[in-house]
Amino acid sequence: MNCIFCDIIAGRADASIVHEDDDVMAFMDIRPWTSGHLLVVPKRHAANLSELDPADGEKVFAAGQKVARALRGGSAPVEGVNFFLADGAVAGQEVFHVHLHVLPRTRGDGFGLRGVPRSPSREDLDGAAERIRASLVSE
Ligand code: 5GP
Ligand code: ZN
Repeated sequence: MNCIFCDIIAGRADASIVHEDDDVMAFMDIRPWTSGHLLVVPKRHAANLSELDPADGEKVFAAGQKVARALRGGSAPVEGVNFFLADGAVAGQEVFHVHLHVLPRTRGDGFGLRGVPRSPSREDLDGAAERIRASLVSE
C-alpha cells in the first residue's frame, strides 16, 4: 500500500513534525491554506472515517485541541482556529489516510468556505433528522 502519511509516520518521508506520541502525529501541511496550517493524523492507517477506530478519532481530536491551544498561545498572531476534515473524494479528500486540518486564522487571511446557506422549512429539517435517526438506529 502506498500512503504518504504512513511514510511520514514511519520516517521514510520528510515532514516538519510538531507533535508525536504513540497514537498520533501532527506535522506542517506542505501546501498551507493559512500560515501555520498543520495536519493531525492517527498513526494506525485508516483510509477514511468508516475505517477509523473511534478511539483513534478521540486522540486525533484531542491532539488537535492541544495544537490549537499552542497556536493561540504562540508568538504568531492567531485570532481563531478552524478544524476541517475531508471524508471522500467528493468532499475534497486527496490523501486517503484520515487527517484533521488545523488552520490558524487571522482577520483578512483570505481563507473561507464557499457554501451558500439555504433556508429549509422546519418540516424539511424534521424530515432530514428523521431519515438520519432511522440510519443511526439501523447501524
Ligand atoms: P485533503 O484534501 O486530503 O483533505 O488534504 C490533503 C492535504 O495533505 C493537503 O492540504 C496537502 O497539501 C497535504 N499533503 C499532501 N502531500 C503531503 C506531503 O507529502 N507532506 C505534507 N506535509 N502534506 C502533504
Ligand atoms: Zn496511511
